[in-house]
Amino acid sequence: MCIVCRARFPQKGLYRFQENNKKLVNFQKTGRSFYVCAACITNNRNKLMKILNHKFRIKYDNIEDFGKILKELDTNG
Ligand SMILES: [Zn+2]
Repeated sequence: MCIVCRARFPQKGLYRFQENNKKLVNFQKTGRSFYVCAACITNNRNKLMKILNHKFRIKYDNIEDFGKILKELDTNG
């Protein structure tokens, strides 16, 4: 289930991330992870940023920085 829109998807339609030192990182095979769907990564970044801050203490200063981080992660762009 996507943590942003709460819709259910087949697992391959979702990106799996986790928190590491208050940063968003790709899932490292161990630890607490969560899923975000491709649509939310593209269209729902503000909400995703808020949820990450609230639930995981992952904080980004602005949406531009956050967009760069998302590009560096394994999100197919
Ligand atoms: Zn979603």
